[in-house]
Amino acid sequence: MSAGCAVIIGAGVIGAWSAYFLERAGWKVTVLDQGGFGKGCSHGNCGYVSPSHVLPIPGPKAVGTAIRALLQRNGPFKIRFRFDPALWRWMALFLRRCNYRDMLRAGHALHPLLQSSRSLYEQVIGKEKLDCEWQARGLILVFRTKAGMEEYAETNHLLAEEYGVPAKRLDGDELSAFEPALKPGLGGGWFYDIDAHLRPDRFMAEMRRLLAERGVTILEGQTFREFRRKGPQAEAVVTERGELTGDVFVVATGAWTPRFSKQLGCTIPIEPGKGYSITMGKPAHCPRVPLIFEEHRVAVTPLDSGYRLGSTMEFAGYDSTLRRDRLELLKAGAAIYLHEPVGEPVLEEWFGWRPMTPDGVPIIGRSPAMGNVFIAAGHNMIGLATGSGTGRLVAELVSGQPPHLDPHPYRPERFT
Ligand SMILES: Cc1cc2nc3c(=O)[nH]c(=O)nc-3n(C[C@H](O)[C@H](O)[C@H](O)COP(=O)(O)OP(=O)(O)OC[C@H]3O[C@@H](n4cnc5c(N)ncnc54)[C@H](O)[C@@H]3O)c2cc1C
Repeated sequence: MSAGCAVIIGAGVIGAWSAYFLERAGWKVTVLDQGGFGKGCSHGNCGYVSPSHVLPIPGPKAVGTAIRALLQRNGPFKIRFRFDPALWRWMALFLRRCNYRDMLRAGHALHPLLQSSRSLYEQVIGKEKLDCEWQARGLILVFRTKAGMEEYAETNHLLAEEYGVPAKRLDGDELSAFEPALKPGLGGGWFYDIDAHLRPDRFMAEMRRLLAERGVTILEGQTFREFRRKGPQAEAVVTERGELTGDVFVVATGAWTPRFSKQLGCTIPIEPGKGYSITMGKPAHCPRVPLIFEEHRVAVTPLDSGYRLGSTMEFAGYDSTLRRDRLELLKAGAAIYLHEPVGEPVLEEWFGWRPMTPDGVPIIGRSPAMGNVFIAAGHNMIGLATGSGTGRLVAELVSGQPPHLDPHPYRPERFT
């Protein structure tokens, strides 16, 4: 298709990367958002660009892990059970995928997207000189117990054999020697040297600057309501402020996307998976490398300009309360592992709605209802890490160019 006007709905990391690659492919691009650019889930996440995160949540151990976490009084995983057919349907689809075969299949869908994204971040951040605290220092999965360490040895073997993503084993004192911010006496850790991280809010601010410099129009505070259609094509997006015409449209509305299922002509089983973060000043004894405390589900991001604790997963619909007990859980978890778990001052307390699909794989492709509308949503816990590959794939599909990776696993109609 020859390049004309492209309208992107949603200015998160997925919308921003789609805008970048569409503009480079010659499209005249407009991005619109109901709020501010980059202020959704892409704002306060942990910033990991982590090709190591190959395995999706649904897997053979997921149900047992979830039940154990649900039984904890203030565990990292929560479901607010309620009468909501969409949630029950989502859970049924999720449970169906909690087996070894579907987990491996989802891993094979995520692996190329993660790999492509990791190298695109490095290239584009360097080429465009994006000032976003990019660090390629790797990431350690830390275990408090030796049993946890041994259990992960099986996963490490699987990741190495099936996807070529091995970790370096760090036992006992090797771990605290490698990362002195950790307390001695922990079970050990697995180090992924391929992983990198950045500061997400800085990255989104830099993407906004870059896109504006390249002539992309950015419209904030404009809520998309529906498409104006002509037969099997969309002609315009309708917002409460009027209409915006275009030749092609990309729906990159993250956790909000199921609201448009009917118009898009397919079931979009995405549930908001609420997570929290606290951004602080750097503690004196700050970790050098990002850390995930697997048994307590707390993630630590050392930034040039600060320090962030993040995680927890709550299925509570579109609940927008910032719960203090969830924030405290992050600090309490970090205190088990770190000499100095918190820094001063607290700069931001935040939550975001991860767009969770029941198979752990994003939804990327053409809408079955309208030939010139594309969907790019449902990036789960790895939307930053898979954002650049997604944006490039979107631009290729929209422009009719050969895709750099097989789009079949991400097809929108797979749940219908
Ligand atoms: C605590 C936490 C830590 C995380 N850590 C990581 C990490 O380290 N690495 C990683 O890869 N991922 C991480 N994630 C996940 C990641 O943040 C998400 O996968 C990603 O941000 C999703 O991006 P998105 O662009 O799809 O959604 P969003 O960033 O939410 O963007 C969607 C946009 O669409 C807009 N929108 C919605 N409806 C409309 C409408 N009707 N009209 C106009 N605009 C609309 C919204 O306002 C929003 O700005 C984390 C998430 C959380 C919560």
